[in-house]
Amino acid sequence: MSVIAERLSRIKPSPTIAVTTKAAELKAAGRDVIGLGAGEPDFDTPDNIKQAAIKAIEAGQTKYTAVDGTPALKQAICDKFKRENGLDYTPAEVTVGTGGKQVLYNALMATLNPGDEVIIPAPYWVSYPDMVLLAEGEPVSVPCGANHNFKLTPEALEQAITPKTRWIILNSPSNPTGAAYTAEEMKALTDVLLRHEHVWVMTDDMYEHLVYDGFEFTTPAQVEPRLKDRTLTVNGVSKAYAMTGWRIGYAAGPQALIKAMAKIQSQSTSNPSSISQAAAVEALNGTQDFIAERAEAFKARRDMVVEMLNDCPGIHCHKPEGAFYVYPSCAGCIGKKTPDGKAIESDEDFVTYLLESVGVAAVHGEAFGLSPHFRVSYATSTEALKEACSRIKQACEALTD
Ligand code: PLP
Repeated sequence: MSVIAERLSRIKPSPTIAVTTKAAELKAAGRDVIGLGAGEPDFDTPDNIKQAAIKAIEAGQTKYTAVDGTPALKQAICDKFKRENGLDYTPAEVTVGTGGKQVLYNALMATLNPGDEVIIPAPYWVSYPDMVLLAEGEPVSVPCGANHNFKLTPEALEQAITPKTRWIILNSPSNPTGAAYTAEEMKALTDVLLRHEHVWVMTDDMYEHLVYDGFEFTTPAQVEPRLKDRTLTVNGVSKAYAMTGWRIGYAAGPQALIKAMAKIQSQSTSNPSSISQAAAVEALNGTQDFIAERAEAFKARRDMVVEMLNDCPGIHCHKPEGAFYVYPSCAGCIGKKTPDGKAIESDEDFVTYLLESVGVAAVHGEAFGLSPHFRVSYATSTEALKEACSRIKQACEALTD
């Protein structure tokens, strides 16, 4: 008899982590590999935030804290929601976890009964369906193709809702496409949701601050205040403040839900690191100047990557509103042959070919639920990106009919 629980057979390990690991292994073996799989900023955590953590250690803030966040951090989060999103929350409506990932997981574990459906627009962040499955729910993937700029339409949303729908997960700007909803597009979705009172909204706003060309970020509870009492607004410091390793994410929502999420956390990890929480207070309360500067750097990289990828035969790349990803189509390469005679039959074949032939590691679209595409993260240096894109071009040019 296997020692492994049956529930494990429902899920797969994160394919994005798998790509990053494979690229690192090849590099360690001496291969010249450029990794475009990373889901984290290449910038360092700003100094004022590091100093706040050092101070917290020196001041002895090294003990357990309240399970779902210190009062100081919860207050900083309330102030952030008010300042940046025009949302009024009290500390009792706020929870803090070990990364946005744990917060999302807690929410699904706390709310899903077996068979409850969760609408997930595809392409999606790889963890949503697997987290739903672990919580014994049913992920309902709704394809959102390039023809709709990878965004969910109100019609598609309406069609996907059933009496069993518990949540819709929205993620704007999106991982893996960078697509973000304008206030008008978001309103069209919230209008549908207003008509379906049993559906709750889980909005993953992790990439809020990474938007370009003057794009204005919006979140569902802001666009439609009547949805606030069935919305969980999830955010975190990982992406905006380059703090992926510190593991702090948070959410605001109705108190009963927040309490249920804290109950799960109290029997799993307890509080997130006390030191990381002190650092997150400084991130949210301290200077925000570097955010715009870094966003400028990301925008310049996005523009370069989009232009260079569109110059590759067989590739078509849209220009997204935010995040640090693009999600080009490789439809024009499917059906072709590599120089050593292998057929490219899927986006997975295509990214394997890129890795093996020119040492570029990207993630295949199938992992995100929409093919034939691949995800390129441009959270890496301009030089590396330039080299990677010319290698992709070289690889595409070498394909034959
Ligand atoms: N949500 C999205 C869309 C993400 O891309 C990520 C990280 O890659 C997360 C949530 C989780 O972030 P963290 O757990 O670092 O806060």
